[in-house]
Amino acid sequence: MLRQQARSLLAKEVGYVTKPHGGRLRIALAFPNTYFVGMSNLGFQTIYTLFNAEPDIVCERVFLPPKSEIAALRAAGTPTVTLESQTPVRDFDVLAFSVSFEWDYTNVLTMMTLAGVPHRAADRTRYDPLVVIGGAVTFVNPEPLALFADVIAAGEGEALVPPLVRAFQASEDRGDLLHRLSAERGYYVPSFYELRYQENGAIAAFEPKAGTDAPVVVRKAALKTTEAANPPATAIFTPDTEFGSRFLIEVVRGCANLCRFCWAGYNYLPVRAFPKERILQLAQAARAHSDRVGLVSIALCDHPDIEEILERLVAMGYSISPASLRLDDLTPSILRLLRQSGERTITIAPETGSDRLRRVINKTVTNDEILSAAEAIFAAGFEHLKLYYMIGLPTETDDDLVAIRDLTLGIRDIMMGHARGRGQVGRVIGSVNPLVPKPGTAYQRLPMEQDAVIERKIKRLRTLVADVDNVYFNIKSERHSFYQALLSLGDRRVAPVIEAAERNGGNWRAALAETGVDADFFVFRDRSSDAVLPWDIIDGGMKDTFFRAEYDKALREEWTLPPKRHKENARLLPVLQ
Ligand code: SF4
Repeated sequence: MLRQQARSLLAKEVGYVTKPHGGRLRIALAFPNTYFVGMSNLGFQTIYTLFNAEPDIVCERVFLPPKSEIAALRAAGTPTVTLESQTPVRDFDVLAFSVSFEWDYTNVLTMMTLAGVPHRAADRTRYDPLVVIGGAVTFVNPEPLALFADVIAAGEGEALVPPLVRAFQASEDRGDLLHRLSAERGYYVPSFYELRYQENGAIAAFEPKAGTDAPVVVRKAALKTTEAANPPATAIFTPDTEFGSRFLIEVVRGCANLCRFCWAGYNYLPVRAFPKERILQLAQAARAHSDRVGLVSIALCDHPDIEEILERLVAMGYSISPASLRLDDLTPSILRLLRQSGERTITIAPETGSDRLRRVINKTVTNDEILSAAEAIFAAGFEHLKLYYMIGLPTETDDDLVAIRDLTLGIRDIMMGHARGRGQVGRVIGSVNPLVPKPGTAYQRLPMEQDAVIERKIKRLRTLVADVDNVYFNIKSERHSFYQALLSLGDRRVAPVIEAAERNGGNWRAALAETGVDADFFVFRDRSSDAVLPWDIIDGGMKDTFFRAEYDKALREEWTLPPKRHKENARLLPVLQ
């Protein structure tokens, strides 16, 4: 049945790769969620392309089966197979996971079970595939997954693939391979380290074990320059996916705005633009398969040629979906081009409602500028506006919650003014998430706000925005964020909780009760005096002194203005050497 399913998925695809296995390094590339979700993930598609671009690698995909089928597959013990050649995953040399979200950690384990691969690295033998875990969340904090991975790949795929090939080609056995990988930039072998703990439970040290020659810290691997690089782009088209046959392409990597809570901003510095002509060539080639392009960049307009790129994409007949736009990106010509391409909704992130709190988080825009942006958006003909807000920010008071309401109402009034002329009223949609302090940010040492306080704030905000016409709020529960924080801020002692949640079908409360792990320790503890943080094993390029100085500035309500784009941010920021 699995083979038949794989064949029918392939039959609807364009762009997949098949190669003979003989003499090649065989990599089963796993996305720890369903085909429907995974095929819309640009990181996953990119790593597939990068692996298969190597003549000595054959890379095939495997996904989490639909939820409804998992129990039966477990019971039957039918081993999962890859899509391209329907080969059992267990037979591959490498089982590589591309993980983008903490919620998929349990799926990593489910996929190992279904493939017949033991969960823990310590239980695997040389007859099992080498389990490599990579993807954005894992290099921000790999520790919760450390016991499951033979190797963590920390950084950007473009810089990680060549060393993997080199190490495999040169190695004699599994032990030799791990040694060679741990000498390469971006490869972290968790079993090569002994962890020592302090009496209060904080980590005292990651100690490389004798004879491993493992580095004291693992430096993240990143692409130094994108000037000659191919932009990551959809390689395989299928109608069976979240974004349909949308052509996804990364236009520029990184964002230099330095918002103090934003792990993506800090971890993808410096800002690097992909070559304009290459973006357009790939888009032209993909036009036969798609008429909608998704621009996947956190700072789209940091590309020096963005207006020309948009003009030419529209001229090719594409409609354009930007991931989310920074407020300082919204020039009249950008808005005109997006509207012209058929977009009706714009998403922006004021993050909070007051200028004071925006200085705390280093979001360097003011309410006046946001209202002017809203004016420009509705004047350009957009109907709906989505707004991202956070609560539980440091120094937040009730006035800041009221300010969220007031700013939203101000925006709604602008929308209504424009709607009257058009005779059609749109929506303002607020999306609110509690702050989860993230590793690799200025807030990495902060405890998360206590449940009861967040609950109270959620309730208050719901009351403030209830029954306002044409305004809808979607407020995420604090419990959801609590477990996300555990997976985000934890260390390898969280591994049993992930295993228990995988066994019990995702009941995190029961998993904590079963394992006795003190989640509050990881989520609600002030880490300001910890000498070592769980994610310090990876050197992402930013210095702890910088983060501490940024946090002090937050408390003084001071901005750190983004360095001027392109050249200056590379020179001014403490980024990769
Ligand atoms: S503007 Fe701020 S929140 Fe948005 S990507 Fe840049 S640093 Fe992150």
